[in-house]
Amino acid sequence: MEWREVPDPILDTPEAALVRPVAVATCDIDRPIVRGDTPAPGPFPVGHEFVADVVEVGEAVRDLRPGDRVAVAFQISCGRCPRCRAGRTANCCAVPAGSAYGMGRLSNGLEFGGAVADLVRVPYADAMCLRLREDLAPAALAGLSDNLADGWRTVAPHLPTAAEAHVLVLGAGSIGLYATAIAVALGAEVTFVDPDENHCAIAERLGARTRQEPPTGRYESHPIVVHTGDRHGIQTAVRSTGSGGVCVNAAVFFENLVELPLLEMYAKGVTFITGRADARAAMPHALDLITSGRLDPSLFVAETAPWEDAPAAWTAHHDRLALVR
Ligand SMILES: [Zn+2]
Ligand SMILES: [Zn+2]
Repeated sequence: MEWREVPDPILDTPEAALVRPVAVATCDIDRPIVRGDTPAPGPFPVGHEFVADVVEVGEAVRDLRPGDRVAVAFQISCGRCPRCRAGRTANCCAVPAGSAYGMGRLSNGLEFGGAVADLVRVPYADAMCLRLREDLAPAALAGLSDNLADGWRTVAPHLPTAAEAHVLVLGAGSIGLYATAIAVALGAEVTFVDPDENHCAIAERLGARTRQEPPTGRYESHPIVVHTGDRHGIQTAVRSTGSGGVCVNAAVFFENLVELPLLEMYAKGVTFITGRADARAAMPHALDLITSGRLDPSLFVAETAPWEDAPAAWTAHHDRLALVR
């Protein structure tokens, strides 16, 4: 990891904005990226969870002004194609599938830059930015771009139709913790399973029952199961989903071919959901939980580092890190 000098991005379309990131958080995928454990060889600009100040807006931008503080969705989405209008902002028709900040080749072709930068171009500013109150600490809110939104979608849409408000979170990293916090905020009982002592301590403070262990075998049946771990845990997640329940997988399996017990899933009528979160569509819901005081996002920032230390801090981070300008 190193700083590189590049030309400033420019306002090349009327719908675009230029923003200056003030806080950038690492996502669970940034550690595998740094280790070289993804199919995205470097070098490329990193960072895709960020809070920024608007610097300049194109003439067609309606909702933003220079000086506004915003969270920017990590996925590029236009806001007006059929999929965006349906809330499927992870799969906007206007850009290639996977288009996002800070992930190199994982974004399938186009490079939109990374958030660890002095200036970031937001191609569809009104659609991608969510305005924030200035009194909220940016380091904790950077997760809105991705992991907070991801945590929200794993539980919130499924709780109203669940047989009971019981959620099992097989966690590894911040998405599982956000899922736990959001489920608790929405009144659910949560069991949180993670081998990490610190994660379990956070989940306990949130009010979850915890089991400090890697997910194995089968837990008591739950109507909602959230999985954010590796391929071994996914079997446990599916087998711990109760009849008529929902199993939401937020983890990425670069192995591609992973076995699922389909007979058992069929017999129990398990709904299996996987895929990237529709971040922009979920962001306002997660923010609403924060501004109404039901969710404290600062619980999950394990480390902070000053902006200029980004190369060393990003290389060495072993849990959720926020760079703060
Ligand atoms: Zn991410
Ligand atoms: Zn779109």
